[in-house]
Parts: sequence; C-alpha cells; structure tokens
Amino acid sequence: MLWGGFPYVFQVAMLVVFVALAVISWGVYAPTGVNAKLFAKTNLATLLIWGVWWPAMVWMAVFFGRAWCMVCPLELVSNISERLARRLKLPQRPLRKWMASGAVIVGIYALIQMLVAGAHINRVPAYTSWFLIGLLAMAALTALIFKDRAFCRGFCPVGLLLGTYGRGGMLAVRAGSGAKCQGCSGKDCIMSCNRARLDARSCPSLLNPPKLASNKDCLVCGQCIKSCQPDNMRLLLRRPFPVTDVREAFASWPVTIFVMLVSGFVTWELFTEWPAANKVFLATPAWSAAKLGLPAAADWFNGLWSLAVVPLVLWSLLAGAVRLLGDKERVFVIWRCLALPMAVVISVGHMSKGLAKSVSWLPFLPDALREPTGLETVEALSAKSMTAPGTLLGLSTVAVVSLVLVGMALACGIREYRLAHQHEPTSWRAVVPVAALATMFGLIIVGWMVQ
Ligand code: SF4
Ligand code: SF4
Ligand code: SF4
Repeated sequence: MLWGGFPYVFQVAMLVVFVALAVISWGVYAPTGVNAKLFAKTNLATLLIWGVWWPAMVWMAVFFGRAWCMVCPLELVSNISERLARRLKLPQRPLRKWMASGAVIVGIYALIQMLVAGAHINRVPAYTSWFLIGLLAMAALTALIFKDRAFCRGFCPVGLLLGTYGRGGMLAVRAGSGAKCQGCSGKDCIMSCNRARLDARSCPSLLNPPKLASNKDCLVCGQCIKSCQPDNMRLLLRRPFPVTDVREAFASWPVTIFVMLVSGFVTWELFTEWPAANKVFLATPAWSAAKLGLPAAADWFNGLWSLAVVPLVLWSLLAGAVRLLGDKERVFVIWRCLALPMAVVISVGHMSKGLAKSVSWLPFLPDALREPTGLETVEALSAKSMTAPGTLLGLSTVAVVSLVLVGMALACGIREYRLAHQHEPTSWRAVVPVAALATMFGLIIVGWMVQ
C-alpha cells in the first residue's frame, strides 16, 4: 500500500479487464432456441461479472469491508476525469448533501435490480456490455461536474451495499495514537492543498482520518496512510464487528430504504434455488400480470413484487411485532432502528445465494476462457455434443455453510443492535425481527436440502 504505484497499477489492470469484457460481450445475444440462463454461464463477460465478481464483492464486503474499492477501476476513471476537469478549468461543484447521503445510489441500485428482474441484464451479454460502459461513462461524467470523488460518494451503484455490508469488515484504516494526531502540526491527511496530488493525498473522500471510527465511507485507498508524516495511520486486520467502531442508533433514510429493498430481493434470490417455493413466492405477481393482460411483463411484476411489495409487507409486520412488544415509536423510526442489525442477516442471505450461484457458474470458466463469446459452447451444449460441467459443491453443502452463516449473523445482528442502543433498557425487542428474518432465511435454505 505504501508503494507509489498503489492503487493505480491494480486499478489499471482491473480497467483493462472491464474494457475487455465490455468488448467481448458487445452486441452478443443468445442464439435462437438456446436457454438464456445457460448462455450466460458460457459467455466470459456475464460469467465473470454476474457469476463471480458480484457474489465475490458481497463476500469480500462482509469479511473485509470495502476491500474491492482498493482496486476499483471506476474510481480510477473518476479520478482521471476529475483531474482533467481541473486542468480544463471546468466549474466543478461540491456534491450536494442529499446526494452524498446515498439517495441517488438507492435509486440506481433499485434500477439495476429491476433491470436484472425485468430485462435479465445478467443473462444477456450485450446488456452486460452496456452496463459496464454505462458505469465507466457515469464515473467519467459525474467527475467532470462534481469534485472530491463524487462518483464514489454519491453515485456508485454498489456504494451503499459495500458501506452497509462492510461495516464489521476485518480490514480497516484507523489512526494510531490520538495524542500524536493532537500534536500534529502538518495535518497532511486533511489539508486540502494535498488533495490534488497524485500520491500521498489528503483524504480524497473528504473524511477526517484521525477520527475515523467506521468502515462505511472509507475506500481503504491508503492515501491518508501515505500522507501522514508522523506515520500514525494504520491499515488494520482486526476482529469482525469490533466494539470500538461507532454505531448509529438510527440508519439514514437512504441506508434504511436500501436495506429494506435488498431484503425483498435477497428473499427472492434465496427462493430461486427452491423452484417449488419460488413458484408460490411469485404467484401473486404472476396472477396480477395475467389479470391485467400483461403476461409479457410478468418479469417486471416479479421485480416490483420483490423490491417494493414484499419489503413493505415484511418490514411492516416486523415493526408491528416490535410495537406489540411495547415499543411506542412510529413504524418509520423502528425501521431506521432495525436497518443496520437486519443488514447483517441480509448480507449473509446475499452471500448464501452468491455461493450457490458461483459454485454452479465457475465450472464453465475454462470453456469461457477458451471461447469468450460462449456462442460455440452453448450451441454444443444445446446439441448435446458436449456435457455441461457439474457444480463445484452440491446444493446441500452450500446450504449447510449458509445455515452456519445465518446463525452467526443472527448473533452479530442482535449484538449490533444492543451496542447501538446500549443505554436503552428495551434493546432486547430487536431480537424478534432479527430472529424472524434469520429464521425465514434459514427455513428457505433448509428447503434447498429437502426439496
Ligand atoms: S465506491 Fe464504487 S466506484 Fe468507488 S471505489 Fe468503491 S466500488 Fe469503486
Ligand atoms: S493522521 Fe497523521 S497527518 Fe493526520 S493528524 Fe494524525 S498524525 Fe497528523
Ligand atoms: S480515510 Fe484514508 S484510506 Fe480512507 S478513504 Fe480517506 S484517504 Fe482513503
């Protein structure tokens, strides 16, 4: 991290991969009569982006916080674009407070998930190419208009996911001795005159490194570590969810909405591994689409169902249970109180589905590397002149791992709530919704084994 080439060399390497994948998948659609889901596994871009990168990012976030941000090519593009705008003397604005709160990110994340549900961008290589190009273009454009790592702070579609799932991550940047910072006259980690430097910059995300006590906004870029002359900033590998981290008793509205939304989506994702139960879960949107004479739009109805209706019903029921136990707060307040502890359980639900997906997609990698468009492979698989590779792990094994994770997340989620509300005698009430969600996830996962 202290090397001058960090993080640029790694970011350039990842950018080359991103661009190569966008080129490989450009204009590629499934041949007629071919199963689109199978084709997604054979095309290198859809396989790596949706079957490997996305699930790996969720796992990395939970274990190591925002580790992906260390090598992210989108940050590099926005960095270059921001410098270019400065050179060209474009009038760059600071990011508005409401934008930096994540309000735009929630909208973008919801849009992507709707596109996954309705247009299957995760199954169509050509759409995946557009997705990658769109991300790169958005990173470049936003940095031309706004300054100070605006894309990461206000527009990155996975920004809230990484910031929310990664709070208890084991990798963290923190200041060492408080006394050293107090006596520091240079304050190079904060001084705005250092921000435009190429290396050893003051925090480009406008954080206050000496006071850092949470992973949620720190991109682990190491700039503050390099800039600190007294050598007081540290990169730590620590226990998960340490008590020393700051916890918010109430999540912000963007984080709350993100967690609610993702709870519905993850529930659906878990059901997809159990086809019979998934049919029941999707019966209402299927019936609604048919009743409205829009059977072709059934997939969009599924998206709306899992991203809006299910979360609203689920969270209203859970908040209702908390009120029945004697909490007099309004439902909205209860939602905000529950969001971060619930996110711990939701994140492992996400990890479980990610694992189930990766172990069945990854075996296609050798063929995808040999023939990146996947067109010949999928034709051969469809014509049965080639056999599809088996999964790396059976679904029952994945289910056992997932159940262990859910159990651990239940304990961590309850602990997170209690630490955030230590001074309230009624903090045990959160046990009910967190346990209810963990039980629901657990039962669906048990269904994977017994189906
Ligand atoms: S916030 Fe988003 S764009 Fe920025 S480094 Fe992290 S993943 Fe990349
Ligand atoms: S982190 Fe380093 S540069 Fe920043 S205030 Fe502390 S000692 Fe000074
Ligand atoms: S606090 Fe340090 S590591 Fe974190 S984003 Fe700022 S400069 Fe990078």
